[in-house]
Amino acid sequence: MTQLAQIKAFTKPLIANLAKLGISNLQGLLLHLPLRYIDETHITAIRDLRMGDSAQVEGEIVHAEVSYKPRKALIARLEDASGQLTLRFLNFYPSQIAALKVGNQLRVYGEVRSGFFGYEMVHPSCKAVGQKTQVAETLTPVYPTVAGLTQPNLRKAVGIALALDQLPETLPASVYQNMRLPSFSASIHALHKPLPDADLQALENRSSPYWQRLAFDELLAQQLSMRKHYARRRSVSAPQFKLSKTLISALLKSLPFALTRAQQKVAMEIQQDLTQPHPMQRLLQGDVGSGKTIVACMAALQSIENGWQVALMAPTEILAEQHYRKMLTWLTPLNIQTAWLTGSQSKKEREAALSKIADGSAQFVVGTHALFQDAVKFKNLGLAIIDEQHRFGVHQRLALRQKGQPEPHQLMMSATPIPRTLSMSYYADLDVSVIDELPPGRTPIVTKLISDTRRDEVLQRVREACLQGNQAYWVCPLIEESEALQLTTANDTFALMQAEFPELKVGLIHGRMKPAEKQAVMAAFSAAELQLLVATTVIEVGVDVPNASLMVIEHAERMGLSQLHQLRGRVGRGATKSMCILLYQNKLSETARARLKVIYESNDGFQIAQADLHIRGPGELLGVRQSGVPMLKIADLERDVYLLEAAKAKADQLLQQYPQQVEQHLERWMSSAGDLVKV
Ligand code: ADP
Ligand code: MG
Repeated sequence: MTQLAQIKAFTKPLIANLAKLGISNLQGLLLHLPLRYIDETHITAIRDLRMGDSAQVEGEIVHAEVSYKPRKALIARLEDASGQLTLRFLNFYPSQIAALKVGNQLRVYGEVRSGFFGYEMVHPSCKAVGQKTQVAETLTPVYPTVAGLTQPNLRKAVGIALALDQLPETLPASVYQNMRLPSFSASIHALHKPLPDADLQALENRSSPYWQRLAFDELLAQQLSMRKHYARRRSVSAPQFKLSKTLISALLKSLPFALTRAQQKVAMEIQQDLTQPHPMQRLLQGDVGSGKTIVACMAALQSIENGWQVALMAPTEILAEQHYRKMLTWLTPLNIQTAWLTGSQSKKEREAALSKIADGSAQFVVGTHALFQDAVKFKNLGLAIIDEQHRFGVHQRLALRQKGQPEPHQLMMSATPIPRTLSMSYYADLDVSVIDELPPGRTPIVTKLISDTRRDEVLQRVREACLQGNQAYWVCPLIEESEALQLTTANDTFALMQAEFPELKVGLIHGRMKPAEKQAVMAAFSAAELQLLVATTVIEVGVDVPNASLMVIEHAERMGLSQLHQLRGRVGRGATKSMCILLYQNKLSETARARLKVIYESNDGFQIAQADLHIRGPGELLGVRQSGVPMLKIADLERDVYLLEAAKAKADQLLQQYPQQVEQHLERWMSSAGDLVKV
């Protein structure tokens, strides 16, 4: 891979500027593609200008003045054989006054607007011209850039890169020709330097075949690398478990409910994986409340029955604690030894837990991020379970996997459903199981959208619900910019609620409290000693208090859809009819309104995630997974679905028949995208 530093024409400052754009090698520069284009390939007669057009005009300056009314401006008149055009500059340098002197020959480019004296251009770009100045032969690209790197310099850099002509084809001709796509080299040239008659609209909205070819290549690279990860797993060995004979059936007998059909199905998929000699990497997906925990527990029992330890990791201390309690009620009757590990334990507790983990006497370990720290040594970790997997980065999951020798099986859980295109692309290296039904007997949650001006009615409703023996959450507005402000808001809201409801017991929970304090509050709320819980979004994941049946979310318009859905999933867990009230500020933007409408109309996490993908792009749904996983830069999972399907269909064939080209292809696309972490 040619580094820019190896090319003579690239100076140190230029290399430094390109680095700011994330470009360090030739491929990266060639794949830095224009946002739009300027047409400087011909000169338009002033008489033929049309409003709104961007055009290039050439003529002589016949008048120039700095006027002060209505505000300071440099105004000039440019004349060609067909007419006159006003040029107007609101901010200008002395050098520009000099350039616009009467008698100068200029070529200007800008957007045509109608002004007081007929057509005008505001801040056109200007060039002095002589007799022999030629018009551009190709459309002029406009690139994304950073301060310090001008468009002309960036164009020059790309020009040098193109001239080196290092654009070997990595696909067999039959593959792209059958799809009616151009070659890689033709695409790169056509996008950086389109011919004057190119379809500008198709170039700018990225529907042109040249863009499609590159989108296909990018999606294909992603498919190929995912397949390689997948194949890698088949070559690695993992502890092989027999199916459970005693523990799982003992657990199921002790439950007050029967598994749903969907739970049974995914439990079987997981149990089969665990009988394999290769590490499982399965994503267990199911809407909030679909009952993933019990399924994870069954997998754990299979591991334990085979003599291997299990670790369950959760993203927050509240959630880890809740899992731990639940596991205790399920596992203690089965005589299984557990341990608990978090960052906030006392040294003594921690050391006791560590030694039980190291000597194997702890069969099931529950904890937070603390689990993958260096000091934690398992005797024989057979299965790592990760709840709310999108809260963890790939590195963290990798660290947990490395705690086992041989490599442990991995079960990841997520309540944020993954739209089909995402699971076909970013998650293609994982096996996926879906729990697609909720346990019976749940009453659907009623969602209401209420303007903040009707806050009094909402308070009244909270009062009634609590006095009737139910419990409620009041979720404080999310303030992303400042954690300090978030804390103040939580404290203020708490004080307001206490003043508003002297007859109720009100609690407060937020992210900055000490873990022990948080635990105490959650325990009091679970035991119904508190009736109203004022909370920040720390309760978003996993918190399970079935008696809570009302939730009010302030400033709902600030939150992501999947986040709102998660929050809302904290109610509707018991037999009482539940309600979620989304309070919004009156001035809603169009997008905010559209988003809230989705959450109001749908209770289906899958639809909601799809809408989130549409509105905010994959980054939000992927969560921290994106750190370390190259994001698609060219392809768009909505626009390019058929290319994604084609890439998926072609990947296996290419791996088998053209291994060398596959390597080249991956090198091109992965090296320009940054490090590829093995997921
Ligand atoms: P999530 O998928 O959101 O993690 P949980 O595993 O926390 O959901 O389950 C939500 C609640 O439903 C828990 O109280 C759990 O014990 C209960 N539950 C799980 N499976 C069933 C079932 N088949 N029938 C009835 N209740 C169930
Ligand atoms: Mg859960």
